[in-house]
Amino acid sequence: MANSSENKRDYYEVLGVSRNATQDEIKSAFRKKAKQYHPDLNKDNPDASEKFKEAQEAYSVLSDESKRKMYDQYGHAGVGNGPRGAGGYSNFGGFDATDFDFGDIFDSIFGGGFGFGSSTSSSGRGSRARRGSDVLMRMNLDFHEAVFGCEKKFDIDVVEDCDECDGKGGFDEIKCPTCHGSGTITSEQHTILGSFLSKSTCPDCGGTGHTFKRRCSHCKGKGKIRKNKTLTINIPAGINTGNRLRVSGKGNPGSNGGENGDLYLEFVVEEHDVFIRQGDDIYVEVPLTLTEAIIGCKKKIPTLYGNVKINIMPGTNSGDKQRIRGKGVDNKYQKSKGDMYVIFKVYTPKKLSREQKSLIEKLAKTEMDTPEIKEFNRFVKNND
Ligand SMILES: [Zn+2]
Ligand SMILES: [Zn+2]
Repeated sequence: MANSSENKRDYYEVLGVSRNATQDEIKSAFRKKAKQYHPDLNKDNPDASEKFKEAQEAYSVLSDESKRKMYDQYGHAGVGNGPRGAGGYSNFGGFDATDFDFGDIFDSIFGGGFGFGSSTSSSGRGSRARRGSDVLMRMNLDFHEAVFGCEKKFDIDVVEDCDECDGKGGFDEIKCPTCHGSGTITSEQHTILGSFLSKSTCPDCGGTGHTFKRRCSHCKGKGKIRKNKTLTINIPAGINTGNRLRVSGKGNPGSNGGENGDLYLEFVVEEHDVFIRQGDDIYVEVPLTLTEAIIGCKKKIPTLYGNVKINIMPGTNSGDKQRIRGKGVDNKYQKSKGDMYVIFKVYTPKKLSREQKSLIEKLAKTEMDTPEIKEFNRFVKNND
């Protein structure tokens, strides 16, 4: 059996391209195979349909960079089509005309010389309802807006149903006189390959089977209209850079009655001068004088929720950390809560008054060593 998955042919071999073929080469190879084996042109050749499917499958994988990478690495198993994969080719039933424009193929098959265009063969394709694509929009938030949440207003162009005609495109609906309500028209085509019946979408109603006595002038019969809208979005507390919010139905318009895509807001949060955010934790650097560090002190420090007083232990060093529980971000977006960390930094003065200098000199005569300093001095001495 040609399509038994055990002896599946190599996709590159199927299309007759090298393993490092470019996308253009793959596309053109597929086009050639499709032309050669298209079932409509090979009614007498029972193998053609299998060959066509095989080429289609190979193309659907090799034309998609990520699938192709998986295939290169793991073979058929890498693209969900391994030896045990049931159904073989049917896994690729989802092969979509958007991935490859079949109009191209038919144009090159029937184009020019045969005297008729591609409209017949692409019939039906144009009338399928298709959802609009999603739209990604970046939004800047300042530190406080992100941490505490906020309401944001912004303008955006959205395609929505026309108000005048309720999205219908006209008034007083009637059965389409051209196709008598069927939405398609059938015509007989005579070609050198023989004559055959061809169905195509009715050009007057676009396949809906109905038209209107009076077309809506507001939307020019489209039923949809582009509106500039001001959207108000509630941004939950805790948003961080890279987080996204979905605003449903505000993306690009669908076609043929398909619904709009969604709008995704992706946030970029500005940094704060004092508070450093890491996830839901907040870090604050607290500067200490030499004496505060040596003998300890009580000190007022800033938090997201106002100032608090903390005890700083005697003998605090630069880089020492103190945790203040629950004073991080109360994240409603991810439903988590952070802490605050105080990082101490001791600042040694570069200038001293005469009095300070004499006090320090007195201090210097006392034993100021710590175990670390003693250890280091011992090492240096042994290293002589
Ligand atoms: Zn019609
Ligand atoms: Zn309208």
